[in-house]
Amino acid sequence: MFRWLQNYPHFLEIVYDLLEVSLHPLKRWFKPGSHSEPFIIAIEKLGKETVFGCQMCGQCILHSTGMTCPMNCPKQLRNGPCGGVRENGHCEVKPEMKCVWVEAYQRSLKMPKYGYQFASLQPPVNNQLKGTSSWINMFHGIDTDLPPGWTNTKDIPVKWVKEDFYANGD
Ligand code: SF4
Repeated sequence: MFRWLQNYPHFLEIVYDLLEVSLHPLKRWFKPGSHSEPFIIAIEKLGKETVFGCQMCGQCILHSTGMTCPMNCPKQLRNGPCGGVRENGHCEVKPEMKCVWVEAYQRSLKMPKYGYQFASLQPPVNNQLKGTSSWINMFHGIDTDLPPGWTNTKDIPVKWVKEDFYANGD
């Protein structure tokens, strides 16, 4: 119902900032396994499903993907589009749908604060976190705590320059 809000990514990054600042003092009540957890999951699901089509992956990267949920990609890709994007920018699996990653890129260019993070390398989805609260996981570093044997993408050097990201956008 509120999916049109995604077309205002700068507004959403401001909301994201406000939400993070206002929820931070509540961190000690935001704990995995706490009594408040089901309530927090319900609120997060309701809000983010309505606006972003959130599928509760538990490791939210919305501010790095132009406030466009990558889990709506039929292939659930987390690091950009596959090779099948159609000439009109639509999805090869669902031709009626614009490619999630085309939208993510275009929206990122309109986000002066977080847009350049589009160029960051994301780890694969940890499906063990599916259905959990990404807010709780973020506050306790669970979303960046990778299973044993996984390489942290932060350890992989990626060359990008913030100014170049915006300058090269169309
Ligand atoms: S990235 Fe994950 S938590 Fe964030 S909106 Fe998409 S499914 Fe939900």
